[in-house]
Amino acid sequence: SIFYSITQEVSALVRSLLKKYNIKGGTFDQHFLVDTDYLDRIVAAADLRPEDVVLEIGAGIGNLTERLARKAKKVIVIELDPALVRILHDRFDGVENIEIIAGDALKVDFPEFDKVVSNLPYSISSEITFKLLRHKFKLGILMYQYEFAARMVSQPNCKDYSRLTVDTCYFADASILMKVPKSAFQPAPEVDSAVVKLVPRPAPFEVKDQAFFMDFVAAVFSQRRKKLRNAILNTNHVLKIPSVKEVVARLPEDLMNKRAENLTPEELAQVANKIVDLKKSILAEETKEQ
Ligand code: SAM
Repeated sequence: SIFYSITQEVSALVRSLLKKYNIKGGTFDQHFLVDTDYLDRIVAAADLRPEDVVLEIGAGIGNLTERLARKAKKVIVIELDPALVRILHDRFDGVENIEIIAGDALKVDFPEFDKVVSNLPYSISSEITFKLLRHKFKLGILMYQYEFAARMVSQPNCKDYSRLTVDTCYFADASILMKVPKSAFQPAPEVDSAVVKLVPRPAPFEVKDQAFFMDFVAAVFSQRRKKLRNAILNTNHVLKIPSVKEVVARLPEDLMNKRAENLTPEELAQVANKIVDLKKSILAEETKEQ
């Protein structure tokens, strides 16, 4: 395939392919990154080595794909829209190190990969990120809606600090590499975007029961402005902590008087761990009594 190195060329290519294949765009979050400066900076951030296998989710017409394939051992793309899959085959079937998987990235089994580099479909940002984080990989360079990225990398006591911040922090180091304006895309989206660098690592604090920790974080952030004590009591229909009043009374008082939005991920983990321990000892006491 010909390499499209300047923005006008990529932009013209997008226009002509969409017309030729009769694609309207707009559905399935289809906004194609045409600004070659950003395309090149994303590829540079991925720091590709000749041995790297790269996963790309939502390849569109392949603007990013062709750049990744020039540096990596292999690029595996997953694309949902059959019309775009046809374009990708027409463009890249002769290219040995590009593999195309047609399907929904939320449903297909991911292949093994070293790095994931994608301009993600924004409506599935959260689900796709946590699906990715259940896999082993070295580095992610991922484009999100700016507001979403800001929530991923926030800090306690900030308005963007949320369930997403804590869950992200549990799985990976995350940082925003660059803000990307609407004008870098075709058609332009309604929101600004940002590229996030994700480096998966073991959690920097102990979590005794991962499933409970995740449920706990979701529950207390659904009541982010309530003191933790009340947030736990109010959400116990979901958390299902036995003898919840007794448990809450035995949790560290200083933390119980704070709000979820003021607690660090580590403090939230401490409380969740303590609940897990108390649940066990209450169950043990109950069985002894019977
Ligand atoms: N990577 C291309 C680029 O930068 O120009 C396109 C990015 S566009 C924001 C998102 C792409 O994801 C679209 O091509 C869309 O068809 C595809 N897509 C949307 N939902 C998807 C899903 N569930 N699984 C796989 N691809 C999806």
